[in-house]
Amino acid sequence: MRTSAALAGAVYGAVGRVLAPIGRAAIDLLLPAHCATCDTLVAPPGLFCARCFAETNFVSTPCCARCGVPFGHAGHGGQAALCPVCREHPPAFARARAALRYDPHAHRLILPLKHADRIELAQVLARLMARAGTELLAQADVLVPVPLHRRRLFARRYNQAALLARAVGRIADRPVVLDALRRLRPTAPLGDHDAIARAAAVSGAIAPRAARMSRLRGARVLLVDDVMTSGATANECARVLLGAGVASVEVLVAARVPDPRLD
Ligand SMILES: [Zn+2]
Ligand SMILES: [Zn+2]
Repeated sequence: MRTSAALAGAVYGAVGRVLAPIGRAAIDLLLPAHCATCDTLVAPPGLFCARCFAETNFVSTPCCARCGVPFGHAGHGGQAALCPVCREHPPAFARARAALRYDPHAHRLILPLKHADRIELAQVLARLMARAGTELLAQADVLVPVPLHRRRLFARRYNQAALLARAVGRIADRPVVLDALRRLRPTAPLGDHDAIARAAAVSGAIAPRAARMSRLRGARVLLVDDVMTSGATANECARVLLGAGVASVEVLVAARVPDPRLD
């Protein structure tokens, strides 16, 4: 598995932002024959075993109608309710949704995708994202991944958000523009920074790629990323895309960090 994953990683990495087309059959070969988060064999490939499925925390309602942050308990006013952050500082994107809560189980899917060349996990996550983002995908004209700075792209060899965008696009039959956005400077891992520090760290760090904007002008864009914490990065991407003339921006991520104040 590591060999094929590393090979595919090299294929993706070698062509950088513009990924080589890979057929469905080749992608299916990359799906893990064992549970995505443990060693139990599963059939068909690419699923969780029953025990890991039971541990998976999907984001469902109630959540913030705008940014999708899960409300830990009912009592926030039902489906149309906004979280305190969206009430005070509405984001540039119209709506964000996540497949999973970013908890220890989700770490076991996302960290190996990000740091250990387990690119087949993008296929597993993309299925969950396509389900969580059904409404958003139905309205999207084009998918755009959150960009990685070229220095980090060089070190990691692939952009995990691009892998996710590509896999979700294939499932939902939507076009993907992989290099619509670029990072002008690397942003340090934001770790425990609060929302204000996160927004400052990404402010001015992302720009639209002029050559791609003629295609995106007037389009409804669905931005794709692996994890959303405060939403600062997604907000900055949405801000610059809207500034470049796209019609609207929504956001679909694999996992959302819950706000402890809402749990
Ligand atoms: Zn398992
Ligand atoms: Zn919100």
